[in-house]
Amino acid sequence: MSKILIIAEHDGASINPSTAKCVACASGLPDAEVDVAIFSNEGSTLAAAAASMSSVRKVLKVDQPVNEHLLAAILAPQVAAMAGDYSHIFGPSTTFGKDLMPRVAALLGVNQVSDIMSIEGSHRFKRPVYAGNAVLTVEAPSDQPVVATVRTASYQAVGNEGSAQVEEFSLDASIPDHTRFVELSAGKSDRPDLQTASTVVSGGRALGGAENFDIIYKLADALGAAVGASRAAVDAGYVPNEMQVGQTGKIIAPDLYIAIGISGAIQHLTGIKDAGTIVAINKDAEAPIFEIADIGLVGDLFTIVPELAEALQK
Ligand SMILES: Cc1cc2nc3c(=O)[nH]c(=O)nc-3n(C[C@H](O)[C@H](O)[C@H](O)COP(=O)(O)OP(=O)(O)OC[C@H]3O[C@@H](n4cnc5c(N)ncnc54)[C@H](O)[C@@H]3O)c2cc1C
Repeated sequence: MSKILIIAEHDGASINPSTAKCVACASGLPDAEVDVAIFSNEGSTLAAAAASMSSVRKVLKVDQPVNEHLLAAILAPQVAAMAGDYSHIFGPSTTFGKDLMPRVAALLGVNQVSDIMSIEGSHRFKRPVYAGNAVLTVEAPSDQPVVATVRTASYQAVGNEGSAQVEEFSLDASIPDHTRFVELSAGKSDRPDLQTASTVVSGGRALGGAENFDIIYKLADALGAAVGASRAAVDAGYVPNEMQVGQTGKIIAPDLYIAIGISGAIQHLTGIKDAGTIVAINKDAEAPIFEIADIGLVGDLFTIVPELAEALQK
């Protein structure tokens, strides 16, 4: 039997969809028993949301003031203390999980399996390497807990037909005081979250400046879409780093991805390879993005994009 503990990612108010995707991955393990851990200050609402996820057996809630902000250094010893007889401990391959899970693995004295994209057996997994250009099958030792991150773009979130029991969990972990929360600085936006949006419009270097990104925002707003960018656009300072899509940015799987003035470097493509439909707008008919695009528009973005946005607003 596989006994899996999933560490929920949340912002104190709601659970990030990455958690339901981890549940989907975990429930593919043989004879899976899936529990979800909520570390929070006051996590009743979060626990109830986790309990409603399909395939979840039990929700373990650890409420204490130190968990008001989910710092990896504070969480890791608590997760390690909760590990007990779990055969697998999973977190999402998001910034949250990539920060936390290696610390958990280190505390448990095991190696981490990163970016699970498919389950091949209780200890056999597939994961992408070389920016998604090759897929590796890895086998973890069966006599140790498997600490892993789940590639969320490879899984659909489970539904909400569950009714798991919620248990207050008390644990004995020594919490370090070398790391403490000072402040969270995050850009505010009314647009959908880039990581989970069903439609994403991204701009590249071709935009040529921060002010020109306005046409991307207008098109995104007309579509109710999130906005992303290539690394070149981020490095040039057109948009903040949190909008970067790709190998060193966000790996996303929207139903519709519109790449505007983006050449299609492999490091960018690795972030969108699970997208449903890819539309590319580029003035160079030979741009590599057209090799993977389902729909390609060859032309000047400064003409096409405003026309598209206007047509959609009518
Ligand atoms: C280790 C590593 C990690 C990386 N990680 C990432 C990552 O996470 N994400 C990422 O995106 N990149 C990443 N990169 C960078 C990547 O290799 C490319 O340099 C980058 O994606 C290029 O961005 P771009 O397509 O916007 O720019 P360019 O490659 O310069 O492409 C611009 C495109 O715009 C088109 N264009 C120009 N003017 C117009 C116009 N008026 N109308 C229409 N089209 C026009 C051009 O034909 C061209 O195809 C990484 C690189 C390395 C080495």
